[in-house]
Amino acid sequence: MFVIDWLHKQAQHHPDKLALVDVASGRSFRYRDFDERASRFAEWLRERWRLAPGDRLAVLAHNGSDYLEMLYGCAKAGVVMVCLNWRLPAAELQPIVDDAAPAAFVCSEELVAVARQVFQGLPGLVSGPPGADWPDYESALAAASGGVVEMPTRGMDETWYLLYTSGTTGRPKGVIQTFGMAFFNAVNAMLATKLSGDDVLLAVLPFFHTGGLNLYANPILHAGGTVVIQKQFDAGEAIRWLDGRGRTGGAGLPLPITQFLGVPAVYLFISQHPEFASARFAAMRHWSAGGSPMPQALLEAYAARGITLCFGFGMTETGPTVFIPDEATARAKPGSVGKPVGSMLTRVVDREGRDCGPGERGELLVRGPGVTPGYWRNPQATSEALRDGWLHTGDVAFFDVDGDYWIVDRVKDMYISGGENVYPAEIENLLYRMPGVAEAAVIGVPDPRWIEVGLAVIVPAPGAQLTEEAVREYCRAGLAGYKVPKRVRFVDALPRTPAGKVEKPLLRQRYADA
Ligand code: ATP
Ligand code: MG
Repeated sequence: MFVIDWLHKQAQHHPDKLALVDVASGRSFRYRDFDERASRFAEWLRERWRLAPGDRLAVLAHNGSDYLEMLYGCAKAGVVMVCLNWRLPAAELQPIVDDAAPAAFVCSEELVAVARQVFQGLPGLVSGPPGADWPDYESALAAASGGVVEMPTRGMDETWYLLYTSGTTGRPKGVIQTFGMAFFNAVNAMLATKLSGDDVLLAVLPFFHTGGLNLYANPILHAGGTVVIQKQFDAGEAIRWLDGRGRTGGAGLPLPITQFLGVPAVYLFISQHPEFASARFAAMRHWSAGGSPMPQALLEAYAARGITLCFGFGMTETGPTVFIPDEATARAKPGSVGKPVGSMLTRVVDREGRDCGPGERGELLVRGPGVTPGYWRNPQATSEALRDGWLHTGDVAFFDVDGDYWIVDRVKDMYISGGENVYPAEIENLLYRMPGVAEAAVIGVPDPRWIEVGLAVIVPAPGAQLTEEAVREYCRAGLAGYKVPKRVRFVDALPRTPAGKVEKPLLRQRYADA
């Protein structure tokens, strides 16, 4: 099965439809302009830089309309785009750049200093005003002839881009993202969220992360809808857009957002924002969430506002969509991720690889056309993760008698206290209900008597007077004794990855001898 120029198709079907709205620059582009700009970029890659199909282009850039032009420009040229995490310092970025071995790069103007260090000697472009070390992106587009670009023949199983995992459990791994994965993920997301060309989606997660690129940009652009892009997540600005107060740049028209996706941290920060209480989300049709454990209290806070968060599960390795529950399931079983979407299959197996029955906890396995063929140039990691055609997620899950799934926690975050397995997410869930707790994370730390015990790291709400004993007492009332954190620490903020996940390895390191 070969790949067609999907963007060009969209531009032929509805050239004047709004495709991209860039909040930071105030610019917006119709499908006709988007397609033309992506083609001009493809021309630059091919004619100027002489990149051949399969060569890599590294992109170290903030979210913006340019980013998506580059992604679709790479598809047109058959070039593999490498989406880099700009929040990493040069020392952490370098091994990733070396791993991907790009032939050229594009960076945002704010990232020129890092680019100078990690892309030494490579040809580059700067997305921003002219005058930096390399030609600017707009001049490159202007220099192209603007003709239609003939896409090279590419198979659906060939690589379109590389995304690195969030790095929550260690060094990020490069996950191959094929054209087929992107297509099936888009179809699965459309089916699960009833996404259509009439939708307007607000994108706040970073595009170098699967949630940002594969749950915002790709499905909505495959459906022929509009994506409003925030450069970086800002809760107040997001609320104003969701509330229908956002304006497109050129025409200044109000643009009601109808679809939104956030990780639990995004929903947490929105709910804690002073404008949340008075905001009205009249045009919103679908709220999805996923990416890390979701406190029940947060689901309830949204439910109290009449908002059902459809809390699903996904990974970089799975495209990412594996689960997004329908609204009825999300309402009836808050916290369940429902049944696997469209073309994805799942199982839960015990340590011996035997299928678990309803209610039994085991490792979640995933199979389907949304699953990656493997890690970039890492056959060892690939063969560890992909066994007998199933991706081993490293996550503990179970399903109920109706076949609806629940994600328990990561295998790596589980600890054993006095011989009992403890899943921190369950304790965090309770802590988020405690008055005065704004954020909470639990880790296992070494202990001479119990081997490991729980340590709760808590960000108190402004003005709250919490004590260690009060926290333990609260937990004792809601949890079995061995799950009650023996130690409690209060901090101003939790360390988080750009995808909003709590960096537990860092916490474990910090409190190793607490
Ligand atoms: P790394 O693999 O580098 O450690 P990561 O696993 O955080 O990073 P991602 O691919 O962004 O990288 O995240 C996938 C993981 O996120 C899943 O394996 C799971 O642990 C977690 N996750 C996703 N959705 C949920 C959910 N609904 N509930 C609990 N955890 C979730
Ligand atoms: Mg992972």
